[in-house]
Amino acid sequence: MYNINSLKAEEFISHEEIEATLAYADANKDNLTLIDEILAKARLGKGLNHREASVLLACEQEDTIQQIYTLAEQIKKDYYGNRIVLFAPLYLSNYCVNGCVYCPYHLKNKHIARKKLTQEEIKKEVTALQDMGHKRLAIEAGEDPVNNPIEYILECIDTIYSIKHKNGAIRRVNVNIAATTVENYRKLKDAGIGTYILFQETYHKESYEKLHPTGPKHDYAYHTEAMDRAMEGGIDDVGLGVLFGLELYRYELAGLLMHAEHLEAVHGVGPHTISVPRLKKADDIDPDTFDNGISDDTFAKICAIIRISVPYTGMIISTRESQTVRERVLPLGVSQISGASKTSVGGYANPEQEEEITSAQFDVSDQRTLDEVVNWLMKMDYLPSFCTACYREGRTGDRFMELCKSKQILNCCHPNALITLKEYLEDYACEETKQIGIKLIERELENIPKEKVRELTAQHIKDIENGQRDFRF
Ligand code: SF4
Ligand code: SF4
Repeated sequence: MYNINSLKAEEFISHEEIEATLAYADANKDNLTLIDEILAKARLGKGLNHREASVLLACEQEDTIQQIYTLAEQIKKDYYGNRIVLFAPLYLSNYCVNGCVYCPYHLKNKHIARKKLTQEEIKKEVTALQDMGHKRLAIEAGEDPVNNPIEYILECIDTIYSIKHKNGAIRRVNVNIAATTVENYRKLKDAGIGTYILFQETYHKESYEKLHPTGPKHDYAYHTEAMDRAMEGGIDDVGLGVLFGLELYRYELAGLLMHAEHLEAVHGVGPHTISVPRLKKADDIDPDTFDNGISDDTFAKICAIIRISVPYTGMIISTRESQTVRERVLPLGVSQISGASKTSVGGYANPEQEEEITSAQFDVSDQRTLDEVVNWLMKMDYLPSFCTACYREGRTGDRFMELCKSKQILNCCHPNALITLKEYLEDYACEETKQIGIKLIERELENIPKEKVRELTAQHIKDIENGQRDFRF
């Protein structure tokens, strides 16, 4: 039975409720009166529930889809402005005891190179990432209590934060590791992590169990209830995501939004981010063997509907997607992207050679350097941002959500984007990127509405030119 407040996975992600939602969406997909009401509600910026969002997703009328896109673009501008936050994944270890059938790190894959970074190797990786200009990382590791225990992850986080190379620093470490205990989440919180990210992969329990035939991840309830444990452990910024392509996308969107609604109902804070990965080719994995792949059109529609359903939740898209797809969905609500990612273990300091046995999790579609990505964003009038200010200023959980829902967060995001972009231009950009960036900063300074903030931002930009670093609002 569906119960949004329950702490049991099968009650807050009730299969019956999702089936009823999809039937309701089918019955109403051409009900223009209802659709207009849903769009009017979304226009208020208060979000949509899973039933309303599912009706929009089922609707195939071109005019409605265009209205969804226009609204998503508007909401993105209102809540996020034109800044796009950049980050990179850092793979620590690909040892894994699970049997996920869509991931080449699964235990039975014997023709992938297994690697686990030592602290010395991490220093090299982080130095290479800092030399590109990255300030924000998402660490990734397979689930393996012997090779990757929580103590290893904590040691890695300490090492990452400790490295200061030239003007470089990693200022925010987000963590993407397997579902774990409240006690371990508390340890991660104490280690100063940003967001805890865990993809659900699929909300469909029966499929979930088939796709995860062996290993601890097989336990659907333990996995699905992980975010509640993370919040109990004090982590108030959590990141959701499904792997589109595993199950029917309409089922997944309903489940994803039900999960967000559950977190808000129980903990008073919705998800900090939602990621929208799509199944990709990798060693041992052919995405064509999965029946539920989605087209670029459907993908764009999903991104837009997520944007209008949870306006206060950041949306992340990775280098799994090509430049073309990224260009298409950026205006529809994406607020964070990865750049120059390597999905192999140790791949930043020692890129894998073609003839080498790979350790990568998936093929990267967007292979550009970080400087190319920054340059590309600016040419499209986006403001690349390396900001990590919020959790360092204690703006997490409900404090963050309050600021975000009232759109006040823009007063921080925009100046912080300018300041951190300026640091990037001074320390890492090529000459062409630097010149484009200087002009962009000049223009964007004028768009800071409060005079005091504008003046202080301009002052910080001068200070950065004079060698100082790490200012924030
Ligand atoms: S998806 Fe995660 S848990 Fe599953 S095999 Fe890959 S690394 Fe392991
Ligand atoms: S101010 Fe906060 S929400 Fe805005 S970009 Fe920085 S860290 Fe993100």
